[in-house]
Amino acid sequence: MTDPGPARITRIVIVGGGTAGWMTAAAMARLVESGVAVTLVESEEIGTVGVGEATIPSLLDYNRMLGIDEDDFVRATGATFKLGIEFRDWGRLGDAYFHPFGTHGRDVEGVAFHQLWLRQARLGRADMPGPIGDYCLSAVAARNGRFTRPSANPQSVLSTLSYAFHFDAALYARYLRDRAEAAGVVRIEGRVAAVDRHAGTGFIEAVRLADGRAINGDLFVDCSGFRSLLLGDAMDVGFTSWQHWLPCDRAWAVPSAPRDAPAPHTRATAEAAGWRWRIPLQHRVGNGHVYASDHVDDETALRVLLDGLDGPPLADPRQLRFVAGRRDRLWDRNCVAIGLAGGFLEPLESTSIHLIQSGIARLMSLFPDTGFSAVEIAEYNRQMLREYDQVRDFIILHYHATTRTDSAFWRHCQSMTLPPSLQAKLDLWAGRARIFREQGELFTPDSWIAVLLGQGIWPASVDPLTAGLPVAESAMFLDHVREMVAKTAEAMPRHADFIARHCAAP
Ligand code: FAD
Repeated sequence: MTDPGPARITRIVIVGGGTAGWMTAAAMARLVESGVAVTLVESEEIGTVGVGEATIPSLLDYNRMLGIDEDDFVRATGATFKLGIEFRDWGRLGDAYFHPFGTHGRDVEGVAFHQLWLRQARLGRADMPGPIGDYCLSAVAARNGRFTRPSANPQSVLSTLSYAFHFDAALYARYLRDRAEAAGVVRIEGRVAAVDRHAGTGFIEAVRLADGRAINGDLFVDCSGFRSLLLGDAMDVGFTSWQHWLPCDRAWAVPSAPRDAPAPHTRATAEAAGWRWRIPLQHRVGNGHVYASDHVDDETALRVLLDGLDGPPLADPRQLRFVAGRRDRLWDRNCVAIGLAGGFLEPLESTSIHLIQSGIARLMSLFPDTGFSAVEIAEYNRQMLREYDQVRDFIILHYHATTRTDSAFWRHCQSMTLPPSLQAKLDLWAGRARIFREQGELFTPDSWIAVLLGQGIWPASVDPLTAGLPVAESAMFLDHVREMVAKTAEAMPRHADFIARHCAAP
């Protein structure tokens, strides 16, 4: 069934020129050749949120889809490579673990690798198997400051490596803008002051700029950031807050001068009422303190950030305010929200840019070229809302899986009632370390395992299938994997050398 609205979609209007706006425009530019006009409106006076520097490996797919040369992109955005995130002080003060991209070891005769590792660890071998991170190339390479690109040969340990980037988000938006404009996207500078909707159907007909110009369209993509001008304000789609699970609602951000060669990983250090990020780029380090304003005042939060810098600040600190949650629908009639206009999850696992990309990919795969279909819109919403909820659960896990009682903030996180979907996952893990990837789920069992074990959530037992593999043999297998991973990491170039050789920013 086709809903009311235009019979053919020939005019796309994107409101907002932040990361979401230009990522959408660069992808939609591919439609220009088939006669679709793509217009992007942005306001320099309003500006962008100006943060968002760490990504996850799925960004490689987006860049590939656009035919972007990776070295060129790294140079243009001052990027570094990211092999995962080092978490400090999360499970317990003084603890550290690594959430790597890529896989831990490999399964043996249908038995998951983590089950074998857990059995050896539970047996308390004299030579304990060591942290599970020792069996993941991305984790060991990151620890040693090494980087190279993965091998395409599935027999090679190097094929288990996976990576993403840290980059300057403003330079990335600029890079995409150049590509989008070259492909025919029209940029309009101006402030959207009003939205015209059809009196009967409620479809958006035009956005009206402060200077009186009207920009008419068939499909409107709301990339207006936290303002959510179209989906939130004009279409009045509700917002579900997740603040009871994710109480952090503010951040201070400041760049600092690099002191050492850039590490190929992000660092997330838990604080008394939130956490600090450290994101090394080629030319600077991005730092921030995400915190819950119910538990710490702004001034103290800023001091925590500045005291934690390991180089002099390069600009005045900026404060950002937000509420974790998402819109109840991300596509309503002829309006789709992508980026912060649709929802916000704090950057603990660097998922916002991924959610932008996944919104774009789904919109492209359900593109309403011959008019709007209620069924397709419902499918888009079903898939996107599910993905938001799954990412939310993974982020909540980091807060909940702690034994920290040193502040009211951590006591709250430890004792809060979890979303049923996360509770079910933890219950399943608690028995025999069973963990499954739900349909469409972003984070793999390897990611869940890294955080669960890293934060001290041990299962009661292991999978009975492990009994089919003799203990001595699996101990030898573990030793072999660990050794191969260590040797491979050792042979990789230093991260800084790799960048200098292939993709140093000018
Ligand atoms: P914005 O950047 O806010 O862009 C909104 C655009 O809309 C701007 O161009 C603005 O000018 C325009 N606009 C607004 N109102 C009007 C109007 N009336 N008329 C015309 N134009 C208008 N994500 C990650 O993936 N990794 C991270 O490490 C990360 N860190 C983050 C840290 C913090 C503290 C925060 C708050 C977010 C972080 N994010 C991160 C999220 C990331 O910043 C955003 O997802 C990303 O920048 C996309 O933002 P956006 O384009 O939706 O909004």
